[in-house]
Amino acid sequence: MHDDIPRPESTPEAAPDCQRPLPAGGKALLDRHGRRITYLRLSITDRCDFRCTYCMAEEMTFLPREAVMNLEECLRVARVFVDLGVSKLRITGGEPLVRKNALWLIERLGALPGLDNLVLTTNGSQLDRFARPLFAAGVRRINISLDTLKPERFHRITRIGDMRKVLAGIAAARAAGFRRTKLNVVMMRGVNDDEFVDLVQYALDNELDISFIEEMPVGDIHDRNQVYIATDETRARLAERFALMPSTENSGGPARYWRIPGSATRVGFIAPHSHNFCDSCNRVRVTARGELYPCLGQNDAVNLLDVLRAGGGDDALRQTIIDSMGIKPLGHDFTQQMAAPQVVRFMSMTGG
Ligand code: SAM
Ligand code: SF4
Repeated sequence: MHDDIPRPESTPEAAPDCQRPLPAGGKALLDRHGRRITYLRLSITDRCDFRCTYCMAEEMTFLPREAVMNLEECLRVARVFVDLGVSKLRITGGEPLVRKNALWLIERLGALPGLDNLVLTTNGSQLDRFARPLFAAGVRRINISLDTLKPERFHRITRIGDMRKVLAGIAAARAAGFRRTKLNVVMMRGVNDDEFVDLVQYALDNELDISFIEEMPVGDIHDRNQVYIATDETRARLAERFALMPSTENSGGPARYWRIPGSATRVGFIAPHSHNFCDSCNRVRVTARGELYPCLGQNDAVNLLDVLRAGGGDDALRQTIIDSMGIKPLGHDFTQQMAAPQVVRFMSMTGG
């Protein structure tokens, strides 16, 4: 893998979470393959103010309110995970910032002892007004989805969105104190592949990181075979314009990073198809419906909402989470043949 590229530079961030020493008290969530789970991605809503073509159907039916974890339940789930040694939590959705009173939850998550790293993935549409309170609540990094710099194209991809609001949100994040904000770009042939160089240049000009994501076969939407682009193709194209230096920085996920000398910008490639890094996976996902998915690319889940509402207390929840480690698979089954969805839920359910 990557035989054609120079040796990576070493950085202090190189050690994945799963290789760090155990936290005080020796608490650790280990799966049946010996991987340590230190990272929870928590979806706090299935709703969104956009309808991105790769993520949702045009006509979506959202969950009824009672089927979604309330904010106290979200907090309880997060607290028990942190108690089990999870040190990084990403708030996601749907669009997390459209959840009513999301800040109430985020402020409390930011105050959880033992949680080192509270981060958020957003479409940026509400960041203009939320950036300051998010920073004050303890969120330290934000990922913002931006697939194009062309307003009409943006509207076509999101079916609803106004790109100017997102750009205003990116500026507001910087003004609020956020650094190393990352843009997420889903690569789509014939849709935005003529803009990859411009998007990297935009990231350089605005001191942002940027990650290019291979579209995943999650949810039955458009013909993904037509638009799929492997990261190696994009990286080769970018290398014609930028000097990309590989970095060993690694968050234990499917992303690998390159640096552009003379800048702080990191260029990431999230390649669940063409490069599989499941052996170092350190994460699990909880949906807004309280389902714990040990793997984004599989359909097996454990229902935490039933446990939360059965009145069994934190011990029952803790045990259910520990037991769920028994079904975390060695890896996903995504293939490059994406005609049929391999995962039946929409990405907005699991939060990416
Ligand atoms: N609404 C927020 C946003 O768009 O950033 C957070 C939720 S969204 C589901 C999280 C990430 O998943 C986004 O970066 C989005 O681009 C990505 N995503 C959605 N559907 C995808 C798919 N089918 N394949 C790859 N990435 C996808
Ligand atoms: Fe909404 Fe994010 Fe999905 Fe787009 S990718 S529809 S912004 S949840």
